[in-house]
Amino acid sequence: MIYTLNRNMECFLGCDSGYDEADIVLYGAPFDGTTSYRPGTRFGPRAIRGESYGIETYSPYQDRDLADLRVMDSGDLELPIGDVQATLEAICARARGILSDGKLPLMLGGEHLVTLPAVRAAQQAYPDLSIVHFDAHADLRDDYLGVKLSHACALRRCWEILGDGRIFQFGIRSGDRAEFEFAAQGHVAMRRFDFEWLDVTLEALRGKPVYLTIDLDVLDPSAFPGTGTPEPGGVPFLELLRASTKVAREANVVGCDLVELSPPYDPSGISTAVGCKLTREILLSLKGGNAS
Ligand code: MN
Ligand code: MN
Repeated sequence: MIYTLNRNMECFLGCDSGYDEADIVLYGAPFDGTTSYRPGTRFGPRAIRGESYGIETYSPYQDRDLADLRVMDSGDLELPIGDVQATLEAICARARGILSDGKLPLMLGGEHLVTLPAVRAAQQAYPDLSIVHFDAHADLRDDYLGVKLSHACALRRCWEILGDGRIFQFGIRSGDRAEFEFAAQGHVAMRRFDFEWLDVTLEALRGKPVYLTIDLDVLDPSAFPGTGTPEPGGVPFLELLRASTKVAREANVVGCDLVELSPPYDPSGISTAVGCKLTREILLSLKGGNAS
């Protein structure tokens, strides 16, 4: 499958490789059709893309430069907002295409339900897939007001694909009682409030295929107010940066996403800058993106 870069389109800072040569292919899934509270994440990918020019390609944290990587930004999917099923199928098809060409898909959301089809595609390519999940919310509801395909149920739907013992959650500080009981029953590993257990988790996952999904609302709203369901008591930016790059660097990450940036709720633009910087640092940490 070949995606050609549309020259009229902005691409994420330094991610202008051609498809054939790219190790990582970035794409946007601008969907917020099941958002339970405040919509707006459909504007996330284009905001990250546009604002990425405010940061440098060089990372002083890693002494690496995006200019040395082979990454293609293939743009946003044109999603039929309002048709959830067709939207999920379109995302799955894009992820599957990138994976089948031996490249690593990195998706910018969008609300968290967009992770479900990306995980489905990754699981088809890597049947023993596990998920590392950073979020304020457990996203383990069986349904939300009767709706199964909701961003509040995203990880529960992923669990139905992967089964017990495959989902490792961190930073969780919100959910209903049933979600916490679901985790306590051993279906998923849930670390509340912080990233402790990350080292032992990565040790257990050594060599195994991992999908990394980062719901940016895991951050404290003071660092990241631009999101639909802000939840006080979150982690600081540098903690998320360390945890995210550690997973990207040490795990066998085969797919990745950053979701739930909702630019309309942060007129300062700081939340978008957070999304840009984290995207850069993850790109620079992923094995698929390391310059040879
Ligand atoms: Mn979430
Ligand atoms: Mn969340």
